[in-house]
Amino acid sequence: MSDSNSSKTDIIVVGSGPAGSTTARFLAQEGFRVKILEAKSHVGIPVRCGEAVARDTFEDILKIPMPENAVRAVIEGFRVFSPNMKSIDYRLPTGEGWVVDRRVFDKEMLIAAVREGAEIDLNTRVLHTKIDKEKCVTLKTECKGKKITYTAPVVIGADGIYSTVARDVGLAEPIEPIDLDTSVGYEMVGVDFPEQSMFDLYVGEELVPRGYIWVFPKGEHCANVGLGIGVGFAKKPVKEYLDDFIFNHPEGKRRFKNATIIEERIGAIPVGGVLDKFATDRVLLVGDAARQVNPLTGGGIAYGMEAGKMISDTLVEAFEKENFSESFLRKKYEGYWQKVYGASFGMGLKARKILDKITNEQMNNIIEALDGEDLIKAIRGRWKQIKLGTKLMKKDPSLVKLITDALFK
Ligand SMILES: Cc1cc2nc3c(=O)[nH]c(=O)nc-3n(C[C@H](O)[C@H](O)[C@H](O)COP(=O)(O)OP(=O)(O)OC[C@H]3O[C@@H](n4cnc5c(N)ncnc54)[C@H](O)[C@@H]3O)c2cc1C
Repeated sequence: MSDSNSSKTDIIVVGSGPAGSTTARFLAQEGFRVKILEAKSHVGIPVRCGEAVARDTFEDILKIPMPENAVRAVIEGFRVFSPNMKSIDYRLPTGEGWVVDRRVFDKEMLIAAVREGAEIDLNTRVLHTKIDKEKCVTLKTECKGKKITYTAPVVIGADGIYSTVARDVGLAEPIEPIDLDTSVGYEMVGVDFPEQSMFDLYVGEELVPRGYIWVFPKGEHCANVGLGIGVGFAKKPVKEYLDDFIFNHPEGKRRFKNATIIEERIGAIPVGGVLDKFATDRVLLVGDAARQVNPLTGGGIAYGMEAGKMISDTLVEAFEKENFSESFLRKKYEGYWQKVYGASFGMGLKARKILDKITNEQMNNIIEALDGEDLIKAIRGRWKQIKLGTKLMKKDPSLVKLITDALFK
């Protein structure tokens, strides 16, 4: 057993996905000595993602540039198709975001962290985490068959949905099946696009129960085509839903008749909202490890990165005050999170429950009654700003009841 320069490390970040690398980057920028431990030999693969990223997180919130080489498509808006194939089309004046290549994107986020001074040990899997409240956190790891022990005053668990750090420090909670989406996706070439700058989303009770199908452009008739379905809602293997859409649905047959699948992806998305607690003595969780994933869209990249900045602000104060207690870290970090996302994630979770019950007819009606601005408000949890009563009452009074019961009772 050997030590690995632990005395020179202030903070260890476990995992170098977008959440871990970005947390390390902000911490290193603040002058902390940061070490990343990554189980794999290469970040960003296998890709388990639709690869859509919001622009405002980068430019407005984190004030970091999106690396140009990671961008496969610039997105200006979205179309949401109802079961009867009517659509809401929406274009944001300032642009909606990007579809990236996660192989490049994750690498670029890591490069930025290393450029700021963070170190990384690859092929280093954390097996066990132990907290000594008064002193430090000890990580038992394995690197190419060799056992190595690391210690640091503070550890960040950025090790994804199945976080071992969260499990060992008692923060992980079992995920109820209803709070998990099973996802299947393809990268395809030769896809028909009326416009290669719009996200296309399809919904429908039989088409994709408790979920949506996405067609995200990736430049030059390439696309990520995928779906997520709530566990327990599928009546056949999830992959069959995607294949049925692509090969048997009239829309799919039209759009994909000349398309070829060049990559297959599978994954699980936690859509049950954040953990009750995502910090304890000397340990904080970020990204999927803390389940910082939008319950309505399943998007998690931007939230984990933003939480990385919240952690950095928290730890600047914690080191100044030499206070690494659970109560201090929770108050600060979870306080930042709740202030920014507490209400919208809470509403998102309730809104997701509408999707558990909504019928095709109701979905057709809602898509006819609402516009793109309304959908953006819904995704951001600002339901009260949508004049639901006025917009839906004439169209379908059952919808008003379904939505107000779910959101406001
Ligand atoms: C099919 C699918 C589609 C999605 N589409 C989108 C989308 O379009 N847009 C979006 O915003 N989000 C999307 N998401 C969610 C998004 O992929 C995740 O929220 C995001 O990757 C979380 O980042 P992270 O850094 O927290 O974790 P991860 O990206 O999972 O990274 C965790 C890292 O930790 C490492 N690690 C794990 N265990 C250990 C260990 N014990 N020791 C050391 N290292 C370890 C892993 O190797 C990995 O590098 C999608 C998810 C899925 C499954």
